[in-house]
Amino acid sequence: MAYKISDACVACGTCIDECPVGAISKGDDGKEHIDYDKCIFCGNCMRECPFGAMMDKSQLVDVIKHIMNKKNVVAMYAPAIAAQFRAHPGQLESALLKCGFSRVWEVAIGADLTADMEAEEFEERMHEGHKMMTTSCCPAYVRAVNIHVPELSPCISDTKSPMHYTAEIAKMKDPDCITVFIGPCLAKRREGMDDELVDYVLSA
Ligand code: SF4
Repeated sequence: MAYKISDACVACGTCIDECPVGAISKGDDGKEHIDYDKCIFCGNCMRECPFGAMMDKSQLVDVIKHIMNKKNVVAMYAPAIAAQFRAHPGQLESALLKCGFSRVWEVAIGADLTADMEAEEFEERMHEGHKMMTTSCCPAYVRAVNIHVPELSPCISDTKSPMHYTAEIAKMKDPDCITVFIGPCLAKRREGMDDELVDYVLSA
């Protein structure tokens, strides 16, 4: 089913040209509509729309409310964020703690687990005679394959993403904590919706 974008849309058609999977089309009202059954959440349309009509509702206010209510809110940041802010080691952690997060995890810790498990899985699969195994870490890629090239779906690794394993560690240390992933990837918003260990995703 296709949904209208937002009132900020002026029907310029830019997003239709930018969508790699044909998920956007003109509705009867002449405005652009997204078919979320086809969308892979690559973020192209969001980046290219000159009017900001594709922006998703941020979860930032919900996260701030939890922090103000003194909840145990844990930040899990992608290493790319530190590079984006040109932060020195420890600076980003300090900044997030000052913002009110109770604990900070760099998602590199989950990436190490993903790399180890994916390597083991690859070895097992090759022994079993598989010809190919692809990553499972990029949610846009996984969705693109599952929706648009389903014959390749069995090749996707069963190993979870670094975000998932970091959230697992955070919840193991404190089962009642609220986990917030902070990263540059818009598709992680969608992955977060499907992962019961990840409570919020902030795109920075
Ligand atoms: Fe198309 Fe990507 Fe926008 Fe989804 S997020 S509608 S796949 S351009």
